[in-house]
Amino acid sequence: MNSELKASISADRTIDRVAMRPGVDAAYQTLINEVNSTRAELTPTEYALFLKEFSTAGASELGDLSIGYADANFKVLDNDGDGQLSKDEIGKRKGEVTSANGERSEIGLPKELEATFLDNLMERHDSLRFESRDDGFLTLYQEPRGITRKDLASAISRTDSLRKQFAPRTYLTKGFDSSPVADIPDSVQELLNLGGMELKSVSGSLKDKLKEHHSEQPNTAMAVGLYSATTNEIMTEKGSYEAKSRQHEIGHFIDDALSPGRSHFTERPAFVQALDKDMSALSSATEWNKEFPEAHLFVRSGLYAGRMSESARKEIFADLYQTRDTELYCKMRSVFPAASAAIDKALHDQGIERFSLKNNAPLSTACGDTRALIL
Ligand SMILES: [Zn+2]
Repeated sequence: MNSELKASISADRTIDRVAMRPGVDAAYQTLINEVNSTRAELTPTEYALFLKEFSTAGASELGDLSIGYADANFKVLDNDGDGQLSKDEIGKRKGEVTSANGERSEIGLPKELEATFLDNLMERHDSLRFESRDDGFLTLYQEPRGITRKDLASAISRTDSLRKQFAPRTYLTKGFDSSPVADIPDSVQELLNLGGMELKSVSGSLKDKLKEHHSEQPNTAMAVGLYSATTNEIMTEKGSYEAKSRQHEIGHFIDDALSPGRSHFTERPAFVQALDKDMSALSSATEWNKEFPEAHLFVRSGLYAGRMSESARKEIFADLYQTRDTELYCKMRSVFPAASAAIDKALHDQGIERFSLKNNAPLSTACGDTRALIL
């Protein structure tokens, strides 16, 4: 798979993991760990792209993290040791960081990331220095005082309580460990690892296990398998349908992974146009409930309506990705030939494999169709 894809999926993982930490200080530490492990995993080119991607895609997270950064590195920033950070000190630090040799500053942060934190602190300087009513300094200094440790502490506690209130992101399936799955193609495993995805298998009903999430995430109330983008989990129910369901959910993950951030391959014009082409070739008289009962409900509704919703497009991708239910896969290909070719091309361009067939027969013969499939 290409460098951009590896970089963007690693950046998504980092943003998710940082967002899942309830506290600013812990989120900052998670960021440091993620950056270090990504640096070890990726080539220098990929890593440079990752930093670029992260600094733009993670803009909303970075504001909180700059407070964590200032708190963790207060002594370094407080150049004159007077217990407060002035605009001059922040500006001076930025000059040192950007002119230093090498890719990281001496505190171990990538230079561009540290520069972003410093810009953010500079922008928020006037409001941050009034976070606490640390008035002791006002009597000592003529100049407006800078940001003190007390200011940072109150900014952190205010931000922490907001994070808890608005982003209570925890794993959906708490208490379920991820379990290794044997038949995953190498390229797919690599992508899952880069995305930090955990595959979790539950006994019994998944929707019962996810009961506490039904009100805020209605899709959990009907799921027999689930791809949760924000918590990096793929959940499936144990049983005879699990292999198909897991492939389908991995299909949703790949649709997401093929486009940066939270966008999907199935939102791209190339895919939407291919699907429109398929739709215009279909007869409006077809009784889809009879002809294609295996198709996902969203997809059948779209076939009747003559246009596919965003959710239906995602289901089409997932069912054209999976091969475990070979009959469904082949029927999807015959109904949506152009959409299926667009997916084949995207997978081929990135070197992402499909799962092999149950009997290990080549995929090109799966549909009794010798026209060369790309994969
Ligand atoms: Zn689905």
